[in-house]
Order: sequence, then structure tokens, then C-alpha cells
Amino acid sequence: MTQINSQPSTQQQTEFLRQLKNTFEKMPYDIDMLLFTERGAENIFAESTRQVVRAFRELTSRIHLREYSLDHDMAKKWQITYAPTLLIAPDRYAIRWIGAPMGEEARTFLETMMMVGTGLSNLSDQSRKVIAGIDSERHVKVFVSPTCPYCPQQAVNAVKAAVERPGVISVELIDIQCNPELAHQYSAHSVPQTYAEEVLIGQGAQSEEVFALSLSKLEPQTIFIPDSDAELVETDLLIVGGGPAGLTAGIYAVRSGLKTAIVERNALGGQVATTPVVENYPGFTQIGGKTLVDILTAHALEYVQIFQGEEVVDVTPGQPFGVTTTRRRFKANSILLATGANHKHLNVPGESRLAGKGVSYCSTCDGPLFKGRTVVMVGGGNSAVTEALYLQHMGAHVTLVHRRDSLRAQKFLVDQLASSGIPILWNTEISEIRGKDRVESIETTNTQTHEKASLPVDGVFLSIGYEPAVELAQKIGVTLTPDGYIQKDAGHRTSISGVYSAGDVEGGYKQIVTAAGQGAEAAMSIFEDVINPYWNRS
Ligand code: NAP
Repeated sequence: MTQINSQPSTQQQTEFLRQLKNTFEKMPYDIDMLLFTERGAENIFAESTRQVVRAFRELTSRIHLREYSLDHDMAKKWQITYAPTLLIAPDRYAIRWIGAPMGEEARTFLETMMMVGTGLSNLSDQSRKVIAGIDSERHVKVFVSPTCPYCPQQAVNAVKAAVERPGVISVELIDIQCNPELAHQYSAHSVPQTYAEEVLIGQGAQSEEVFALSLSKLEPQTIFIPDSDAELVETDLLIVGGGPAGLTAGIYAVRSGLKTAIVERNALGGQVATTPVVENYPGFTQIGGKTLVDILTAHALEYVQIFQGEEVVDVTPGQPFGVTTTRRRFKANSILLATGANHKHLNVPGESRLAGKGVSYCSTCDGPLFKGRTVVMVGGGNSAVTEALYLQHMGAHVTLVHRRDSLRAQKFLVDQLASSGIPILWNTEISEIRGKDRVESIETTNTQTHEKASLPVDGVFLSIGYEPAVELAQKIGVTLTPDGYIQKDAGHRTSISGVYSAGDVEGGYKQIVTAAGQGAEAAMSIFEDVINPYWNRS
């Protein structure tokens, strides 16, 4: 099957590179980098690091790279124990990359260059106040993987903190693909995972302000309420959720003339961002989920302002609505809830305790760590089959565990699974996930014979469907259907005037193309209501 070339146009690339070059030239500081590698050893991570740095140096003479072997005195001076390790502007900051800044991490690398070159952390005022209050050293470790779309957000949070408080905050970005032993030592089997002073302060990506608070308190925080003087943004429409529904709605709304903003607490693209391959989005025979998201995002950014890494923490009713995120306040005449869906949990003993320690809900993020290891993929739908194939492709020894004797997945995928040789445990449910510090085995029950068995495994990947993300809808008081989805009319209007919905949070067919369609419909409906409000019609 052909992989569609989905790169930005040459003109766009040239313009982007021109802007980047200009930005580097105007930076007040040169950027020194020290790369430590193993003498004489061929290492793809070291080579990838060299290539990334080389690509930047072709743009600017402001970057200087010196390379040393691990047995050099410089390695002793900087206390380097892993190769490759890249130190960035070590005379000014304590920022080190253990592994290679490749894949998704190229974004972190670019943002790090910008911060180090300008000497500015770009922290929000809210985060800056919290970071300023930290009164003792913080040594931060962020475990990341090049295939994890959530990781750059967390890695950038940590780098911002290190740039804001050099001498107090240091950061190590640890690539789990390159450093599986280090990941095992911390039982960091899901990324991103963040430690400060050897204490786990974050599992998954946090908003910048929640990260700052977690770093300050040295324990994971879940919420941050900004000060009342936080920035105020006024919009006709505020879209909550940056998946296919929200991004498409943003394009349509702005094109119709509505002042619109999108708020997304996590990575843009929702579930698609972690879908290994998409083969049924019209126009693309086969495309990586993250690539599709990048194309969609680039398109949306042509029109709509996107506030990524911010979570809505409060909504006050009224005309306009008042919406508070972790960073700022909005006044919005209408709100579109495109909040998508959350992973379903098995709810068996061991699952939550070992989450991130071998229990994973994201094969794209965490799969690389399980190369050569034994894992199970639980579920029988499109996601489970796609991800089982992906795990096999990553070199894991994968078995599919399904509770029935036939799969729910589309025939095309079932056929691919059959030819892959991936074994399937039919009619099997997991009753417990066991392990001390990390997953070691699963206890299973055969639903037909009730026979119990124990299976040694290193990882348990769960793809057992999604539950609508309706926390915010419930908070606002929107009526739900008996199945727990948002109840709406044909124009995507919810039970509250001025509040709309689109995408997986509405239920129905959960496809990328249907979510995009619902986003477009909702935006058009909102536009019509602004011209001729339905709640004023007699
Ligand atoms: P899904 O279609 O709802 O399938 C969930 C699977 O998990 C089912 O096989 C289900 O078993 C099993 N399951 C549910 N609860 C379980 C439990 N407690 N214990 C064990 N197994 C359990 O979910 P999905 O595969 O994540 O897909 C979600 C939606 O996205 C679907 O509409 C799907 O079509 C769409 N999607 C599409 C594509 C694509 O078109 N390329 C790719 C991915 C996802 P039963 O079968 O016994 O109910």
C-alpha cells in the first residue's frame, strides 16, 4: 500500500525555515552543546542526535557542537554516565538530553533552542509565580519517547522551569527507547513520566501550571486555578477540545466570521494522535494518525487560535459565559463541547497500581519499550487489532486477549491480524494484573470453561473502548442520554442555550470522518443561531 506524502508544501517549508533562520540570527545568545558518546561505537541514537544538531547548524552559525567520548575528562567534569548525552548551554543551564531528540521530541528540541537562545522561559505569569516560590533545588527527570505525542508538552514544561530558575532547577530528558535500563530502574513504562528529587510528580502530560505546582509541592497535583487578574480573552465561540471535531469546527466557525478559540488540555488530535495507522480517512489510503493530526492542526491554525496545554477548570453561566482555564479567563457567547472520550478501564485488581508500570493505554507511546518482551493486548475492536499489529511491528511478542469468540474489528483488520500470526486467547477475561513494582503476570478466566490460568507478561495494553468525556458537560448541567453521552438536537444544540456538542462525546459512529463532519455541522449551526438565535424564535 502506498504511503501518501503528506509533508507541508515546499513553499511552506521554505518560509518556515526562513523565519527560523531569522529568529536564530536575532537571538542574543549563542548555543553551545556538548555531545558525549561511546568511543568507537556505532550508535543510532548518537548519530540521530548529530543529524538533528547538524540540521539546525545548517540554518545558523549560532549553534556550536563539541563531541567527547565518555572516557574524556570533560565527561568526568560534567558527571556524564550515559551515552549519548547532550548538554545544552551547560555554562548557563542544567539541561541534558539522555538519548536522541528525534521523532516527536524534535518539537521539544526546537523549543529548547528558542528558550536557550533568547534566555527566556516563556512561562505564563501564573506558572512563573509558582516557580519563583520554589526555595530548594529540584532535579527533574522526564521520561519520554520519540513516538509519544503527549511527551513534548511535559518535556517543554520542565525545560521552561530550568530556564526560568538556572541554579535551582535542572532537567534530564530521558528517552526510554535509548535507555530501557534507566526506564526499568524507575519502572517508567509509560511516558511521559516525571520525577523531581526522585519523587513521581506527574504521570502523563500536565498543563504548565499544574506541572509548576507539582514541582513546587513535590507531589502530583491535578488542578490549578489562576489568579483573578489572569488574562481575559473575549470570543463569539469557545471550543473545548482539539480533536478532529474541535479543529474542524474551528475552521468552519472562523470562516463564517465567528471570533473563535480552541482550548485543549492535552495533545491535539485526541485519540487519532496515538492511532498508529489510519486507512479510512478519505483522501489518504494510509497515513499515520499523528501525521493526519499535524495536517489537520496546520490547517486549523491558518484560521483559529489554539490554546494547547490548558484545561478548563470552571464555567459560569450567563450571556456571555465565563470560562476559566488553568491559565486565563474567557468570555464566550457560545461554547462547543468537543471533549471526546476517555479510555475505558478494566477495573481489575492491579490495574491502577501498575498503570505506567507495564499497564498501558497507549501502544504508540509506550510500545517501543517492549521490544523483545511479552505483552498482551486486551480488546477485540478496531483499536485493539490495529495496536496489536503495531506492537508486533515494534518487536514485542504480543498475544491478543478477547472476552468473546469473535472480533468486533472490521474485516480488513481481522484479515491483517490473521496473516500476522499473532496468537489470540479467545473467551478470556483478565481477573487480576500482578507484579511488585511492575507488571509480572496476569490472572485469566475462560468465560466458557471458567478455567483459571496465570500468564507471565511484561506488559498489559488495554484497548477496550472509550467512555464519553462528559465531566465538563455535567458540571455545566447539560442533559445526558441514558447511555451517558451528551443529548443534542440535529443542530448539535444541547439542553443549555449557547452550549453545543460535536464528536465522540455525542456517541454514534466514532470515526474521524464523522467527528470532523459533526464539528462542521455544529459550527454552521452556531453561526445560524448567532444570526437568528433559536432561543428567541417564537
Ligand atoms: P470498541 O469498538 O468499542 O471495542 C472495544 C473492544 O473491547 C470490544 O471488542 C469489547 O468486547 C472489548 N471490551 C469492552 N469492555 C471490555 C472489558 N471490560 N473487558 C474486556 N474486553 C472489553 O472500541 P475501539 O476499538 O477502541 O474503537 C472505538 C471506536 O473507534 C469504534 O467506533 C471504532 O470503530 C473506532 N475506531 C476506528 C478505527 C478505524 O476505522 N481505523 C480505528 C480505531 C478505532 P466485545 O466485542 O465483547 O464488546
